[in-house]
Amino acid sequence: MSAKHVYFFGGKTAEDTGLDAKGQKELLGGKGANLAEMCRIGIPVPPGFTITTEVCAAYYEQGKKIPEAAVPAIEEALKKVEAAFGGRKLGDPADPLLVSVRSGAALSMPGMMNTILNLGLTDASVEGLAKKTGNPRFAYDSYRRLIDMFGSTAMGCEHEKFEHEIHEMKKAKGAKLDTDLSADDLKELVTRYKAVYKAHVKDDFPQDPKKQLFLAVNAVFNSWNGNKAIEYRRIERITGLRGTAVNVQAMVFGNMGGTSGTGVAFTRDPNTGENVFYGDYLINAQGEDVVAGIRTPEPIAKLHEDMPKVYEQLVGIRSTLEKHYKEMQDIEFTVQEGVLYMLQTRSGKRTGTAAVRIAVEMVKEGLIDETTAVKRVAPDSLNHLLQPQLDPKSKVEVVAQGIAASPGGASGIVLLSAEAVVAHAEKNPNDSIMLVRKETSPEDVAGMHLAKGILTSTGGKASHAAVVARGWGKPCVVGCEAMKINEEAQTITIAGKTVKAGEFLTINGTTGDVMIGKVPTVAPSMTGDFATLMTWADKGRKLKIRTNADAPADAAKAREFGAEGIGLCRTEHMFFGKDRIAAVREMILATSTDDRKKALAKIEPFQKADFVGIFEAMDGYPVTIRLLDPPLHEFLPQKDNVEGTEDVARQMGVPVSAIRERVDELHEMNPMMGFRGCRLPVVFPEIGDMQVRAIIEAAIEVKKKGKSVLPEIMIPLVGVVEELTMLKKRAIATAEECMTKAGIKVEYQIGTMIELPRAALTADEIAAEAEFFSFGTNDLTQMTFGFSRDDIKGFMPTYLKEKILPVDPFQSIDVKGVGKLIDMGIKLGRESRKAKHGQHLKVGICGEHGGDPDSVVFCHKVGMDYVSCSPFRVPIARLAAAQAALGDTARDK
Ligand code: ADP
Ligand code: MG
Ligand code: MG
Repeated sequence: MSAKHVYFFGGKTAEDTGLDAKGQKELLGGKGANLAEMCRIGIPVPPGFTITTEVCAAYYEQGKKIPEAAVPAIEEALKKVEAAFGGRKLGDPADPLLVSVRSGAALSMPGMMNTILNLGLTDASVEGLAKKTGNPRFAYDSYRRLIDMFGSTAMGCEHEKFEHEIHEMKKAKGAKLDTDLSADDLKELVTRYKAVYKAHVKDDFPQDPKKQLFLAVNAVFNSWNGNKAIEYRRIERITGLRGTAVNVQAMVFGNMGGTSGTGVAFTRDPNTGENVFYGDYLINAQGEDVVAGIRTPEPIAKLHEDMPKVYEQLVGIRSTLEKHYKEMQDIEFTVQEGVLYMLQTRSGKRTGTAAVRIAVEMVKEGLIDETTAVKRVAPDSLNHLLQPQLDPKSKVEVVAQGIAASPGGASGIVLLSAEAVVAHAEKNPNDSIMLVRKETSPEDVAGMHLAKGILTSTGGKASHAAVVARGWGKPCVVGCEAMKINEEAQTITIAGKTVKAGEFLTINGTTGDVMIGKVPTVAPSMTGDFATLMTWADKGRKLKIRTNADAPADAAKAREFGAEGIGLCRTEHMFFGKDRIAAVREMILATSTDDRKKALAKIEPFQKADFVGIFEAMDGYPVTIRLLDPPLHEFLPQKDNVEGTEDVARQMGVPVSAIRERVDELHEMNPMMGFRGCRLPVVFPEIGDMQVRAIIEAAIEVKKKGKSVLPEIMIPLVGVVEELTMLKKRAIATAEECMTKAGIKVEYQIGTMIELPRAALTADEIAAEAEFFSFGTNDLTQMTFGFSRDDIKGFMPTYLKEKILPVDPFQSIDVKGVGKLIDMGIKLGRESRKAKHGQHLKVGICGEHGGDPDSVVFCHKVGMDYVSCSPFRVPIARLAAAQAALGDTARDK
């Protein structure tokens, strides 16, 4: 523990901690460090002192006691404040100094503890304040606020009990506003507040100002481990802090009449990032009145009329602060009888749009360099720029809220089943549709893809609807429990209002808001500041960024966003297409190899055409195509879906019993661990042959057009090298056959997904056969933990709450366990490939984790060559990869 417990600030100086900016923040908390810093650069700040976070840690070590050595240090610092503020003494009956007691940890934790204002007022000093200011009303109003704040914040009285008293008083006096109460009313109110205090605390409101002070300091320390604070740290994943600092600061009063006021402002617009002064103030008000919504505040520009001198000074401070911190600031100020005081500055929270604009403009203004700009924007915040947004100019009424699952805004007509969406879209391809379901399943993907937005009444951020929607960058709100679906009546009810199928509904996937009716949207694009920031990011990164795309349109979109290839093209999504599903079902129902081949021959042209489109869109970039992965039953109706079974039987012209029998045969207890992945072509080689032929023939066709193609054939779910050996041999034979027939050679590679623990453990053997590895971390996580991805709802929330797991491992790679397998797999694989073939083994990742910034950092650290993510997360991955390469990020947590 450092020798000093307390640091003074005031005038144009502040006691030196001898630490760098980061160290100061850790020792003094963000608020304390910045108050000291503002003093040093000559900005007017009421004098005060900061009790360090180390004292807080010691307080807890000593069983909630302020360490003895800190007590005289606090008293001494108080004397300095008294001297610096006109020699007034804390609570002096003639001319009292009053102070505020403010919490402040290294990272801002809003709402951890309420600030106690006006501390030092007692029965005696309130009279002094009344006389000195000639304003008894103000004095008694300050006193009753202190008893309330001190009582509720430090001593645990219920704030509502105090509120009840003022309410009763107003009723009795016929007063509408607090300000309608007279000095005598407030004096009477003080008596009543003291009675409330005594009833709860079983002691009188302390009349010794120092006793008030020490009790308040204790209260701030206690708030560090209050429920609110613990919960906040858990949600924000804040760990490793020693505690909170306490700031004790001379009070200044914004509530002393027409030449006083209080305000909050941002040095730039936090929504758009525009370089304008942005904020609100109130004349004759104190503390949080501006944000509390008691009175409607005035926009900061109007201060120019009300107090021109103060406004000018404030504008000067705005620029001084930005030049000093080189960052957009969020400031709090108070004006007491025409004199301006700054009470807080910190870097301001902002939207993704604002973050990008501010970073780029600050580079242009010469405040920061490109690297700093790249480090400063949180990758996930780019989501804000990547989705169609509800037009901010439109008025909306939110009727319910669900979980914000995939950002962006969408409006569409309500349809209650995926089939209805498909049918409607066929006839009305230009209609916007909102698919509304209790939940979704793989059977719904076709309808989901055609919908503009997806709304479900159950499910969380990892539900099927959420994952699929995010993959496509489609706005989605899940778990909207206030919504009831009535399939029979074809209606939904939300908040007592009924919406019929065919009527418009709007969702905001960024906030989880649900609105009835239609709201216009505006489209995203990568232009202007956004594009500029991305080029800067690209200069820094080492990882390549690919995309997961199954259709030429997605591939093209991803290239627009900067994708450098496809890391995962899932062929099953092509199987689901409406013009092919019949042939796929024929293939599944086939009882002989010949019949199966016949059905496959019908699918082949579709597959080939899809690959041609994708290769063309990705001209010159590698494309990894995964052979069929899911179990076959996914292409048939579910076991208990009678209607669906009948439909399919009719379409296929076979008896219902034939479908039912095959569905029964294919039924699995545990499909995720069933007959899928490479197990399919091992048993039915003709499926693999067809796919390889479609890939190679497509590559030949595109090459003939003079384009460059780099197909990578990926065999999924390999756990034993022999699987790969067998399938690779067969694939090579098929490819050679195609090339001989066409008389053209194309370069291609054959590799595998590492998604089973056994594959990672035997990566050396597998790499002898595989030319590349792609880590399928969804399955790898599932198989490593033994968690089924679709069934974690029941326990994951508790696991996170109880800190059994720090994060949902399906959202961010579990570095300790799954990460260890990945690291091992890469090392074993690379060594073996080098030793046996003298080649570098190309390694990447595909799946949800490829677009998660923390996971991207991990991929960079373990030396992958690329990450692959959904098209709309490509810019996020580019930025995350740049930040990983550049080291520590400078952004605010
Ligand atoms: P938070 O951490 O919630 O922002 P603060 O410690 O900043 O809490 O206090 C809240 C508000 O109380 C400030 O914005 C300011 O208006 C008021 N306040 C705090 N200290 C003083 C002071 N010394 N003089 C006047 N007002 C103060
Ligand atoms: Mg504040
Ligand atoms: Mg898989």
